[in-house]
Amino acid sequence: MEKVVIIGSGPAGLTAAIYTARAALEPLVIAGLQPGGQLTTTSIVENWPGAGPEGIDGNELMQKMRAQAEHMGARFLDGRVVKVERADSGAGLVVKLDDSEISTKTVIVATGASAITLPLPNKDKLMGYGLSTCAVCDGFFYRGKKVAVVGGGDSAMEEASYLAKLAAEVTLIHRRDAFRASKTMQERVKANPKIKILFNTEVVDTRSDAQGLSGLVMSNLVTKETSELPVDGLFMAIGHHPNTEFVRGVVDMDDKGYIHVTNGTYTSVPGLFAAGDVEDQLYRQAITAAGRGCQAALQVERYIEGVGH
Ligand code: NAP
Repeated sequence: MEKVVIIGSGPAGLTAAIYTARAALEPLVIAGLQPGGQLTTTSIVENWPGAGPEGIDGNELMQKMRAQAEHMGARFLDGRVVKVERADSGAGLVVKLDDSEISTKTVIVATGASAITLPLPNKDKLMGYGLSTCAVCDGFFYRGKKVAVVGGGDSAMEEASYLAKLAAEVTLIHRRDAFRASKTMQERVKANPKIKILFNTEVVDTRSDAQGLSGLVMSNLVTKETSELPVDGLFMAIGHHPNTEFVRGVVDMDDKGYIHVTNGTYTSVPGLFAAGDVEDQLYRQAITAAGRGCQAALQVERYIEGVGH
């Protein structure tokens, strides 16, 4: 039986792997379908402490994190987890993959969340070259430029306000005639002279040049008129979905699928821990996820020693 299986290989999972490996728990990491997680889809990460003034490429950061975990003794397995449940014997948990099963005393779920994106033509080509889902990560590259944000929730308000500090002009595009965001955040956006709001508007296509995104094609959902907006960046803030389908019905979660944690990273199932974007819908930063991964590793260690939960 394994001592700890870590599902996911983003900052939370790999930090948990480094800590549990150093605690001689011989972690087995199931890397998942997007090894390295969301950071592998950004370009330069400039807010990772220690990356230096020039920042670090997201892929390189994740490769280094994995190499560090491997060096400490973590083992890696590529595969897709379809279910985690309590063992019939009552001892420990069973991790079910497509074609195998692993018995383990503990599991750390660190499968992250995926940003929901618009189904735009050329989306894959322009991600990181004008299209983004994180203003805190990529906003810096748009200093003095024109950007747009799409969405009407708190995230869109937050992204627009954040970008207004850096960009020359921010256009906030929402598909309905009212925002769903909290009043305070709406008012902040409406009072910001740098933010222009377009209601009842949908982004339907992109324009691009050799540098990447150069404009948006939009449709007014009331008048059906089409228009174009020259921008260098489009930030999609239309929500995230946590990757927790494989523990649905097993562990307590909210209606969006975020896992409930108490006292750190404990879930409703003994021996099952959750860390990072699967349980945090507010901060969603690599550094906060890594911190939660560390916390989960330390709590697993205590759990195995018979202390806690
Ligand atoms: P959200 O509240 O689910 O809002 C998503 C927005 O995207 C909605 O306005 C929705 O439009 C729009 N949208 C969804 N699909 C779309 C599509 N295909 N095309 C165009 N627009 C689309 O998500 P969120 O803003 O990320 O917030 C998630 C949770 O985190 C919320 O509970 C929020 O309060 C919380 N949060 C809190 C803070 C804070 O307090 N500082 C900051 C960020 C997030 P409709 O309105 O028409 O449905």
